[in-house]
Amino acid sequence: MHIYPDAKSVVRDLTPDEPVILNRPHAAARAARFFVDKFPGKSLYAVKANPSPELLQTLWDNGITHYDVASIAEVRLARTTLPDATLCFMHPVKTARAIREAYHNHGVKTFSLDTTEELEKIVDACRDDEGNAASDLRLLVRLRVSSEYSELSLASKFGAELGEAAALLQLTRQHCDWLGICFHVGSQAMSPFAYVTALDRVRAAIAEASVVIDMVDVGGGFPSIYPGMEPPPLEDYFKIIHQHFYALPIAYNAELWCEPGRALCAEYSSMIVRVDKRRGDELYINDGAYGALYDAAHVAWKFPVEALEDDLRDADADFAFYGPTCDDADYMQGPFPLPSDIQAGDYIEIGMLGAYGTAMKTGFNGFGDAEQVLVADEPMLSLYDGSRVRPEADNVVSLR
Ligand SMILES: *Cc1c(COP(=O)(O)O)cnc(C)c1O
Repeated sequence: MHIYPDAKSVVRDLTPDEPVILNRPHAAARAARFFVDKFPGKSLYAVKANPSPELLQTLWDNGITHYDVASIAEVRLARTTLPDATLCFMHPVKTARAIREAYHNHGVKTFSLDTTEELEKIVDACRDDEGNAASDLRLLVRLRVSSEYSELSLASKFGAELGEAAALLQLTRQHCDWLGICFHVGSQAMSPFAYVTALDRVRAAIAEASVVIDMVDVGGGFPSIYPGMEPPPLEDYFKIIHQHFYALPIAYNAELWCEPGRALCAEYSSMIVRVDKRRGDELYINDGAYGALYDAAHVAWKFPVEALEDDLRDADADFAFYGPTCDDADYMQGPFPLPSDIQAGDYIEIGMLGAYGTAMKTGFNGFGDAEQVLVADEPMLSLYDGSRVRPEADNVVSLR
């Protein structure tokens, strides 16, 4: 497949009417190697952040062997793409049919749960034809933890409360030889401390249950880098997680897992959009809230932008974007700094859309087509290219 040097060369070659997704396998490969080399345990890729088969293959080729899947469609996709991968079904609310297919047809042994109903469902769905319970289940009890350090909360929906966790751990222990605890601190956790408070909760749950724990899974939430959101080094997260994991009352050979989505794939993709109309400081572009800019519209996420025209000379001004659909909500407030003489017909590259960006695209209103091409240049921002100096404490800011 042809590899373009950069976004400008794509515009020159294609002058595209539709958005174009630019993929950078080298950036995803570097992120994978970073986690494989530096995280003091096993790193699972959370497929929902970006299920592209090419990305899954790149991560596999660079040492990611385990995949966190949350639906039967993700199970099938990951299994078809990576026949030898270990798949872990980490959605705490599954259908019996999905569990049965995952276990019996796709070799999935690892499941998470946060209620006794889900435990019974898993145990029943994995029985053999004679009705014998499975002896090879690996079960994780998901704890509810705080999302206070994260930009996007995952605290309300899933997870057993501390008060009910001990009983659930004890009951789950009776159905598996390998018992884990997992949690999710919320996405884009801007402080390593998020994991400390969560691991304190894990400690309390284990102490109360007094069961043997074979694995602790600290979930996702590892940040990427965006304008106005420059996190501390990931090494700080790994170090603090390792220290607090070691202090837990768990089996001496207990495993440590994490499930990064965003941190493994944010740098993988950017997108070229075209300005179709300008109205004052509002640019009407050809992707938006129903496309890869879901987070820009819904939680005012600020993705990095760069004009791709060489003849724009004016200083930057702040712009908001309208997407292509007929819906007023298809609006991204930004602000996005771009040269103040930008106009209809000009192209813009929007960066850091590999996680929860390209994966969110819909076909609503007939807009959704996007060609995908490979580019060889660096992502607009990177946590892994060695360019970052340790930010000062007051430099670690959050958007909202
Ligand atoms: C979404 C999700 C992840 C990945 O989260 P990131 O914030 O993208 O790292 C990991 N585990 C579970 C269970 C999830 O739902």
